[in-house]
Amino acid sequence: MCHCTACQRRTGSAFGVGTYFSKEQVRAEGPNNVYARGSDSRRKSERHFCPDCGSTVFWYLELFPDLIGIAFGAFADPSMPWPPVSVWETTRHPWVTFDHRLDHFERQPELIEGTA
Ligand SMILES: [Zn+2]
Repeated sequence: MCHCTACQRRTGSAFGVGTYFSKEQVRAEGPNNVYARGSDSRRKSERHFCPDCGSTVFWYLELFPDLIGIAFGAFADPSMPWPPVSVWETTRHPWVTFDHRLDHFERQPELIEGTA
């Protein structure tokens, strides 16, 4: 989960939730539009969204060049694992709280276990 202001604007919500996979594990197909933007950490990101409904589907981050991010909500699967980390809590809305165990970071750590 990311509480950065860029994710708040991108999602139109209080935070974004993403899943990450090795690029070799995923093949992206079909039409998509791309929007490149910066982040609160001033790194580049490339967001690919559905040209029909406008939903962000997947993305690439300069921070994690070997990974592809896929929007958590794109799976529409209530059995998905619970998010294990919460980043950019420095801009987290105080009413956003979670009662499961997860690691908290004030900003974006350079490396999150399991992502490299
Ligand atoms: Zn973010």
